[in-house]
Amino acid sequence: MRYDLHTHTVASDGELAPQVLVERAKANGVTHLAITDHDTVAAYDGLAAADLALIPGIELSTYWSKRGIHVVGLNIDPDCPELAAGICEQQRARERRAEKIAARLQRAGCGETLEGARREAGDGAIGRPHFARHLLAAGQVRTVREAFRKYLGNGKPGDVRSEWASLDTVVRWIRSAGGAAVLAHPAHYKMTRTKLVELIRDFRAAGGEAIEVVSGRQDAATTARLARLAADSGCAASTGSDFHRPGGHWADVGGQPALPPACRPVWQLWE
Ligand code: AMP
Ligand code: MN
Ligand code: MN
Ligand code: MN
Repeated sequence: MRYDLHTHTVASDGELAPQVLVERAKANGVTHLAITDHDTVAAYDGLAAADLALIPGIELSTYWSKRGIHVVGLNIDPDCPELAAGICEQQRARERRAEKIAARLQRAGCGETLEGARREAGDGAIGRPHFARHLLAAGQVRTVREAFRKYLGNGKPGDVRSEWASLDTVVRWIRSAGGAAVLAHPAHYKMTRTKLVELIRDFRAAGGEAIEVVSGRQDAATTARLARLAADSGCAASTGSDFHRPGGHWADVGGQPALPPACRPVWQLWE
């Protein structure tokens, strides 16, 4: 069995079409795959996946204590009306946010970027990576990383505090769709241990059930630390590559390290 419960497609900021991602997952030996695009389930429209268990998922954006936090929903009913209404709200927030990002980038000397970012996003949910790709294509930065470092990352002009739904709300949407709520990549938030424990406590109180003990190319010490946090907080453990595209600094689909054997895997909640 090989689980990858966190991946992206062109429906958000990934590079592969959903069917291509599924084929790649199969080729890499993945037996259970969740596609978890940012604030959308569009990848599941008409998606067929023979020889592989597809677990419907999503990665919802939210704010907690002035920080951007991501919550993955797994084994959701993508057609649940309450979730669908929530997704509409998040998409409107993304559109408003994109306009604000463009205005801020203009003031920072990047010129007009909204049309270019929209082109990069295509039919997908627009976000900062599309602005980064546009800046790269326009020759204003040399790498996507540089775009984040200069313009889009934490505390930079394009880091617009959006009107995302609250932590309680996004967890409620996931649960009303019958899914399990998973705190995504806890090590990415660069919080102190005290702050992270506080976040996990609030997340548990909201109905969250698991944390990503393994995310992408994470080192063994981080995995061990997160496994302890999961055990101490009574959380199940999830695992995912957070795959966006082949190459670069992302783990390949199914390429993340194994979950520590002592963890209680999140899939026990639905299998
Ligand atoms: P957004 O959904 O618009 O808030 O964009 C967040 C996404 O940007 C993340 O899911 C990553 O895919 C990407 N991202 C965040 N930080 C970086 C970075 N430093 N370099 C490249 N991509 C990044
Ligand atoms: Mn992303
Ligand atoms: Mn994320
Ligand atoms: Mn992700």
